[in-house]
Amino acid sequence: MSADYEVAVVGGGLAGACAAALLARHAGIAPERIALLADTLPAAGAADAPPALRVVALSRASERVLRAAQAWDRLPSARLCPYERMCVWHESASPDGEAALCFDAADIGEPNLGCIAENGVLLRACIESFREAGGRLIHAPLASLAIGADAALLACGDGAAWSARLVIGADGAQSMVRARAGLAVRVRDYRQLAIVATVRTARPHANTAWQRFLASGPLALLPLFDGSCSIVWSADQPLARELCDCTGAQFNERLEAASGAALGATTLASERLGFALQSLAAPSYVTARCALIGDAAHVIHPLAGQGANLGLLDAAALCEAVAGAVARREDPGALGALRRYEQQRRTHNLLMDAAMSAFQGGFAAARGPAVWLVNRGLGLVNRSAALKRAFARRALGTGGELPRLARAGGAPLSGSG
Ligand SMILES: Cc1cc2nc3c(=O)[nH]c(=O)nc-3n(C[C@H](O)[C@H](O)[C@H](O)COP(=O)(O)OP(=O)(O)OC[C@H]3O[C@@H](n4cnc5c(N)ncnc54)[C@H](O)[C@@H]3O)c2cc1C
Repeated sequence: MSADYEVAVVGGGLAGACAAALLARHAGIAPERIALLADTLPAAGAADAPPALRVVALSRASERVLRAAQAWDRLPSARLCPYERMCVWHESASPDGEAALCFDAADIGEPNLGCIAENGVLLRACIESFREAGGRLIHAPLASLAIGADAALLACGDGAAWSARLVIGADGAQSMVRARAGLAVRVRDYRQLAIVATVRTARPHANTAWQRFLASGPLALLPLFDGSCSIVWSADQPLARELCDCTGAQFNERLEAASGAALGATTLASERLGFALQSLAAPSYVTARCALIGDAAHVIHPLAGQGANLGLLDAAALCEAVAGAVARREDPGALGALRRYEQQRRTHNLLMDAAMSAFQGGFAAARGPAVWLVNRGLGLVNRSAALKRAFARRALGTGGELPRLARAGGAPLSGSG
């Protein structure tokens, strides 16, 4: 049976939009045989608009994947903020004291450790690259999915339907694709909200990503292109609701205290949004004709800003598996090709989830002598040039086994064009 599409990607978030662009440019499939089904599309933003609320800290590995997707060079550089330093400290310590861990891109001969970018800007660049390559963008929500022996059948609410040899579920944590494909999921509620807002600070952010571990949850201040900071403040639900509902003046006072006044007085410059936090893991990412990527497969605590980075690596690894199948003249939706993708990504993602949960639990629970240990540990790392360099390299995300499209030089896949 011939299907309408070789691949249909469901979900136009960062993982789905980037996967679609990578496939259209590297999989060896005619781009018009690739569909991206997106229920929402990012609105065009004015060049001088204030920073959007949703931003992500992209690693160097993610930058390489976005370059391979031919999305990176479309990003407006004036709206990106490279960060050159990271500073991490416990609430019992001071950000400029001995027990704070601060590491610098210059220590490893790099211009920066990564880049803070707005989600909308990234999505627009990926979708533009996909369309320009000749991919088919369908602006509609998936309403039903049936996985058959030869193809997956996708339908929208208005009755339009298509078949595809492979369907990629990139439709986020509540994935319909995952449910319809019968893929299980384990969910753990952190009972926390992450409050996201833009703030102005009395002192310059110094192109540094600041992270303070509080007993109530981590607080990050990420540097933005216009000199302001994006905060991600995770806290248990009652406290988080209080922080969302209090007046702006009260919020400013509490934020300055919570940040240990690392950047002086803070002033709210946007609304406050709260995101419920959970850890989610699909024990299996694939079944015949279906693969999950990004938050549809795994959601981790945002404390180290890794969720989107993992989703981009999934997109690169799945593109590589599909390109391999196409080069061998195999069916891209066959389980064998998809298992190669799962093997490459699942353990890596599980380890990251475990590390984030341990960090979150460990720092939050640290009391009495444990606080001394945490501070001593951070202080010891801070005094060791070799350990600091290791942390800086880890922040770049370029260690370990990476998909080829995330490696230096972006080794081309067969069929790349
Ligand atoms: C507060 C916070 C801060 C974060 N900060 C960082 C950070 O600094 N760095 C980082 O790497 N990660 C960060 N993350 C994580 C990151 O935002 C997510 O991991 C990432 O956005 C997930 O992308 P995705 O494309 O997999 O899913 P999503 O962004 O959820 O996209 C899924 C898409 O699918 C669409 N969709 C859903 N159902 C359907 C349907 N039926 N039909 C069609 N389309 C559908 C949705 O509308 C959406 O567009 C943060 C997360 C939070 C909560």
